Amino acid sequence: MTGTTDKIYDLAIVGGGPAGQAAALQVAAAGLSVCVIDEQPLPGGQVLRQPAAAGAGAGWMKAAPYRRLAAQHAAFVAEKRIDWIGGFSVHTASRQAEHFRLSLVGATSRSISARRMLIAAGCYDIPVPLPGWTLPGVMSAGAVQTLLKAQGIVPGERCLLFGTHPLMLVLAEQIVAAGHRPAAVCFAQSQRQMLGRALPHALRAMRTPGPLLAGLGAMARLRRAGVPVHFDASVQRLVPSTDGNGLGAAEVAIAGRTCSIDADLAAMCFGFMPQSDLPRAMRAAVAPAHPAGWRTLNDAQMMTDVPGLYVAGETVGVTGADAAMAEGKIAGAAITHDLGALDAVSHARIASAAIRQRERLNGFADLLAAMADPREHWPEVEADTLLCRCEDVPCTEVDRAILQHVDTAASGGASAAKLRCRAGMGPCQGRGCEHSVMRRMAQARDLPVADIAGFRARFPIRPVPLGSLVDPD
Ligand SMILES: Cc1cc2nc3c(=O)[nH]c(=O)nc-3n(C[C@H](O)[C@H](O)[C@H](O)COP(=O)(O)OP(=O)(O)OC[C@H]3O[C@@H](n4cnc5c(N)ncnc54)[C@H](O)[C@@H]3O)c2cc1C
Repeated sequence: MTGTTDKIYDLAIVGGGPAGQAAALQVAAAGLSVCVIDEQPLPGGQVLRQPAAAGAGAGWMKAAPYRRLAAQHAAFVAEKRIDWIGGFSVHTASRQAEHFRLSLVGATSRSISARRMLIAAGCYDIPVPLPGWTLPGVMSAGAVQTLLKAQGIVPGERCLLFGTHPLMLVLAEQIVAAGHRPAAVCFAQSQRQMLGRALPHALRAMRTPGPLLAGLGAMARLRRAGVPVHFDASVQRLVPSTDGNGLGAAEVAIAGRTCSIDADLAAMCFGFMPQSDLPRAMRAAVAPAHPAGWRTLNDAQMMTDVPGLYVAGETVGVTGADAAMAEGKIAGAAITHDLGALDAVSHARIASAAIRQRERLNGFADLLAAMADPREHWPEVEADTLLCRCEDVPCTEVDRAILQHVDTAASGGASAAKLRCRAGMGPCQGRGCEHSVMRRMAQARDLPVADIAGFRARFPIRPVPLGSLVDPD
């Protein structure tokens, strides 16, 4: 779909993952007009990212944990009343007198208007600097998985997965299924730490035992496939290959003893943070998310403090795809009711079923967050380790900016350091380094990270050709 129309949609949704799909289906079923915008060409979001060939069903979607998501996805694709606007990023959005105006950039640029707006933009991997992390072959686990799901590519022969998040087990299995054998999976936390953190949540998590059993099953299958799974194993440094063209190995401390693991691909996975740039730039209220980033605050109807602006899914906190789907339903029902297309009784019935579904999932979400907690396991950086990869700003320069501006930092937070050293001024607008800058600032000032203000989010939130800013339509 291209070209700008004068049409004013009842609802514009940013994000075609489980949350956005659930809301769109709800709203479309009531006869309201709805469009879903996504920078991916095809619907599915991160968890159901589709292969490039349109319509091809991915084999992994048939696995038990994905069945409900896959059924919703099929219903979304079949629903002709939803306008799918794939391959476009929303780079700017604002509330005007009567409606929201969204500016989009893709192969062309365009803008659309809608009476209500829902942000269901998901989450992304927490970028974690360590010596050697900018070498070719070092990627986030999400990026490796994206290549695998969308292109069927594993971009290396010997993949080392490291971090603290059990998604590594899912990815390692997917790599095995693609015909490769990962070099190792290294959890920085010990098994004892993991179990100790999980225990307080175990009983509640057993209300939805599926994902827990799937994780244990994955670990057993990996071990059978000969993939070493280490605990208390922290990657300290990523070392270049002998020709200097890429990654060659990783120095890993396993139970206190340092060893070297050969690898030409390293996938880091310390967890995920909500996509918050759009709500923050729209000045919606946010709060620190666990373990990093910002979650957008919402009321029981999933509305933010910006009237008519709703949020759902991992934009409000990283709690998994099923929870995202339930939140999408709550938001969808609330918006339909708000626009007068759903009576109060039906709204209450749909919302309470989705809220119950959402609550059942809380136990597992809390258990996963506790087990995967990276906060004691951030790798050490060195003076020349780049913190901001877009602007090539090393750790020492960020530290100097923080120290020079101790007073300013007290009021300006991470933005004060940004102005001084350029960290966060590049094309990614700080998505890659904001959290690292905040952590170093917190360390320097002996404060919790949650007490440090982040970068000030500004439009455009994605790189935009100048021409489209001058003439957006
Ligand atoms: C890389 C990655 C891989 C993951 N893999 C798995 C997995 O295998 N299994 C699992 O259980 N969980 C996985 N997760 C967690 C998973 O994302 C969620 O549980 C689930 O997909 C959340 O659903 P959602 O609807 O909130 O967001 P998502 O599914 O993330 O959907 C959000 C969508 O919004 C779009 N978007 C964001 N910002 C904009 C913008 N400005 N303009 C236009 N579009 C935008 C994105 O392209 C995305 O498609 C993964 C997460 C990531 C980041």
